[in-house]
Amino acid sequence: MSVKGKAVVCRQWNQPVSVEEVEIASPGPNQVLIQMEAIGVCHSDLSATNGTMPLPPPVVLGHEACGRIVELGEGMRDYAVGDKIIPCWIPTCGQCRFCQAGRPTLCDDWAKAFLSLKDGTRPIRDAAGNSLNAFSGVGVMAEYAVLHRDNLIRIDPETPSDKAALVGCAVMTGVGGAINRARVQPGSSCVVFGAGGVGLNVIQGCALAGAETIIAVDMVDKKLGFAQQFGATHTINPSTDGDAVAKVRELTGGGADYGFEAIGLGATIVQTYSAVRKGGTAVIIGVPKFDAVASFPAAMMFMEEKAILGSAYGSGSPKTDIPKLIKLYQRGRLKLDELITQTYRIEDAPRAFEDLEKGVNARGVILL
Ligand SMILES: [Zn+2]
Ligand SMILES: [Zn+2]
Repeated sequence: MSVKGKAVVCRQWNQPVSVEEVEIASPGPNQVLIQMEAIGVCHSDLSATNGTMPLPPPVVLGHEACGRIVELGEGMRDYAVGDKIIPCWIPTCGQCRFCQAGRPTLCDDWAKAFLSLKDGTRPIRDAAGNSLNAFSGVGVMAEYAVLHRDNLIRIDPETPSDKAALVGCAVMTGVGGAINRARVQPGSSCVVFGAGGVGLNVIQGCALAGAETIIAVDMVDKKLGFAQQFGATHTINPSTDGDAVAKVRELTGGGADYGFEAIGLGATIVQTYSAVRKGGTAVIIGVPKFDAVASFPAAMMFMEEKAILGSAYGSGSPKTDIPKLIKLYQRGRLKLDELITQTYRIEDAPRAFEDLEKGVNARGVILL
C-alpha cells in the first residue's frame, strides 16, 4: 500500500521551497519504506534550490535524516520493521572496483542515483500524479521515503534521531574529511574555511585528531563563535580582520599543515591552497557550482609540493564509520547536541531554508 505524507519540494530554482502532500509507493524489491523522525537542513539542499547543484526540479529535497523502517520490500529479510536507519546519500554497491578497494564513496553507482533510486524507480508522486525527483536518490525531507538497500545504514536504536540525522551528512563529511582524507596528525596546524555545519565538523575532526592549532575562517561572527565551541583555537573574519591567508601564515609561522575548504567557491579554494605551508595538504570539501573553476599559480605547485585532495562524504566507509561516530557521541567524545541550534516543523521548511541562507544556525533540524 502506498502512503501519503508531507514532503519539501523544490519546484523552481531561486523560489521558496514548497511543503506538499505527496504519495509514496510501497517498497519494491530491495527497497524499504522509512518513516522519518528527524531531518537536517544541509547547505547542499540549499544548493539544489538555487541551481548550484543542477538537479532539475521538481525535486524532493533532503539527504541528512534518521527514521525507522515501517515496511520491507521483497528480499529485505535481513532488515526488520522498526530498525533505525540513517540514509547513506551515496549508494554503495559493494561490488565495483572502488567499493572493493575500500573507497565506497567513489562507488560507480552514485551516478545512477542523482534523481531516482539507484534501480531507476521514482517512488514519489505529487497531488497531480506526476513523479518527482529525489535528491541524491534519497529525497528524505519528507514524512516518508522509499530507500534502496544500498542507501541504508542501520544504527543503534537507542540513538536520539535528531542527533543521529546529522551524522548522516555534516558529521560524516566534516570529521571524515579531517581524519580519513587529510589524516591530520597530532600537534599539527589546521585552517578551515567556512564554519557551517560541515566546517564545524572538520574543526571537530581536527580536534579529535589532536591538532594543536585550529583556525576557523568565516564572514559571520556567530559562526566563528560556534567554531570555538567545536575546537577552533583561533578565528578570522576577513571582513574585519583583513586578508585571511596572511593571518593564517602569521599564526602558523608560514602556513598551516592542513587546509580545508568547506564553502565550495573557486576563490576560497585558492585561498585554502595558499594558506597551506610548503609540502602541506589542502582538502576540498565544499560543493562548488558545477561550472566553477579554481586557478592556481602553476609554478608554486611544482616548487611548494603541496597536495590538493578532493573529499566527498568523508572519504571513508559510511556504513562502518557512521556507527563508530555514534559510539564516539555516546562516549561523550563527539559533539552533536551543540550542533542543533534550531528545530522546525516540516511546515516551516521555507523558514529553515531562509535561516540557513542567513547563517544563523550551526544546524537547523526538522522534527517529525
Ligand atoms: Zn549534506
Ligand atoms: Zn560500488
